[in-house]
Amino acid sequence: MLGKMMHKPLTISSLIEHAGRYHSDTTVTSVETTGEVVHSSWREVESNARKLAAGLARLGVAQGERCGTIAWNNRRHLEIYFGVSGAGMICHTINPRLKPEQLIYIINHADDQVLFIDATFVAAVGQLKEHLTTLKHIVLMGPRDEAAAKTVPGILFYDELIAAEGDDYSWPDLDENMPSSLCYTSGTTGNPKGVQYTHRTTVLHSLGGNQPDGLAISARDTVMAVVPMFHVNAWGVPYIAAAVGAKLVLPGQNLDGESLVRLIDGEKVTLALGVPTIWMGLLQALEKTGSKAESLTRTVVGGSALPTVMIPAFRDKYGVELIHAWGMTETSPLGTLNHLLQKHQDLSETEKGAIREGQGRPPYGVELRLVDEAGNLLPTDGKTQGELQIRGHWIVDTYFGQDSSALTMDGWFDTGDVATIDSDGYMIIRDRSKDIIKSGGEWISTVELEDIAMSHPKVVQAAAIAAQHPKWDERPVLVAIKADESLTEAELLAYYEGRVASWQIPDRVVFVGELPLGGTGKVLKNKLRETYGTLLLDS
Ligand code: AMP
Repeated sequence: MLGKMMHKPLTISSLIEHAGRYHSDTTVTSVETTGEVVHSSWREVESNARKLAAGLARLGVAQGERCGTIAWNNRRHLEIYFGVSGAGMICHTINPRLKPEQLIYIINHADDQVLFIDATFVAAVGQLKEHLTTLKHIVLMGPRDEAAAKTVPGILFYDELIAAEGDDYSWPDLDENMPSSLCYTSGTTGNPKGVQYTHRTTVLHSLGGNQPDGLAISARDTVMAVVPMFHVNAWGVPYIAAAVGAKLVLPGQNLDGESLVRLIDGEKVTLALGVPTIWMGLLQALEKTGSKAESLTRTVVGGSALPTVMIPAFRDKYGVELIHAWGMTETSPLGTLNHLLQKHQDLSETEKGAIREGQGRPPYGVELRLVDEAGNLLPTDGKTQGELQIRGHWIVDTYFGQDSSALTMDGWFDTGDVATIDSDGYMIIRDRSKDIIKSGGEWISTVELEDIAMSHPKVVQAAAIAAQHPKWDERPVLVAIKADESLTEAELLAYYEGRVASWQIPDRVVFVGELPLGGTGKVLKNKLRETYGTLLLDS
């Protein structure tokens, strides 16, 4: 039968070409490593990305090879995202907060040929260099810098690399199933594992994750990606902003509340995205500076559980809507986003607030299910807790460099999270399966215990862990940082009464000066279990 539609591959170059052509004068704001705020445009980003692609070809980098980045959110990093992937190479973003041995492992494991670095990391890379066996070029993301050339002999300079190229490079035709970027999981235990995204999964994630009940970013938005570009492609925001032609704000390395308030007010940011600790800092800075963050209408919060007190704190005083989202490196990352349904419109503010505390629902493109430890399907009744599994258009199949699939026999990815799902598909993360506390055969959610502790005005941050117990196998112990020296263990434990069932109240509270954090700012509970896991046996 005759009749056929065009086949146009879903490529990353098509996103930046669109932005360069139809949103050419829309601003991209970038805070440089020098602290300077630079305004460029999608036209310039597109043009520089093409020059970079040509420059890499001149250096002999071939399609399918990987280029690493150790960099903050800034305009050159954005150009690298599009230039490297657009040319058919793979953009491997690396988390600078990892330990040196992890950095060495990741760069060698990825077989990176080129490493782009911000000026901040010249000294660190100078020290690691002799262990980085696959690299052919290191490129400083900036102009010529003699001091850097001394620290890292042979280093190239990004601005020189692109200045040597004309504007006539054309993006190659690529198969949409070719890999485009690579990101390693945080790896709190064992070696980090790489997730390699393709052009197709990246474009589908951008379209699927940006639906009206998703991120809903438009050409009328000014989007600030506080979430790092080295953490799951900044949740896809650079690609989405290009696809819709939003004004993009890249805040560089200073993510303290006051720096962010300055950018929000100065650039008239309408939407910002980041992890909960960032928004805690922002709230304090708003209080301190007296700014009302007038332009800001919504923020997307994910990466770890949203402390519920933050929702009214932003809504009531600043009119900012908090959208809770969940995802993982393995899921590109958008897995769920929390918006209300038409049938919720007549609910009270309290009832609506209760729905919005959860992690939300999957957009078109992903499906969720719950199973028990034996793999049996569990009901989605909003009460039954189970292992959360996911499948869809932008979910990992096999980790980078591994032979065997990461999926279950029937093709689902096991997230390692414990969750409930209700009949409308609203999902709530109850815990990581390895963190949940199993007390006498019953489960206690560490997320819930932490949320209660953090709603106490004298607590800055808290982590609940399973401590070994002679009778109950495991019992909860809370490790907390005080905001006020007068807080006692008894006072904090009393606060739990009436807020959870009495058998869920922690056995002990330990106060500490700081909590151990991993590379993406999440509390390292395995470290806490090593330190405090036998506390109840000792006593
Ligand atoms: P990563 O791959 O480093 O992004 O970590 C993914 C993990 O972070 C998930 O499996 C969850 O355990 C956790 N996570 C992400 N978003 C949320 C959220 N909104 N609430 C609770 N946990 C989250």
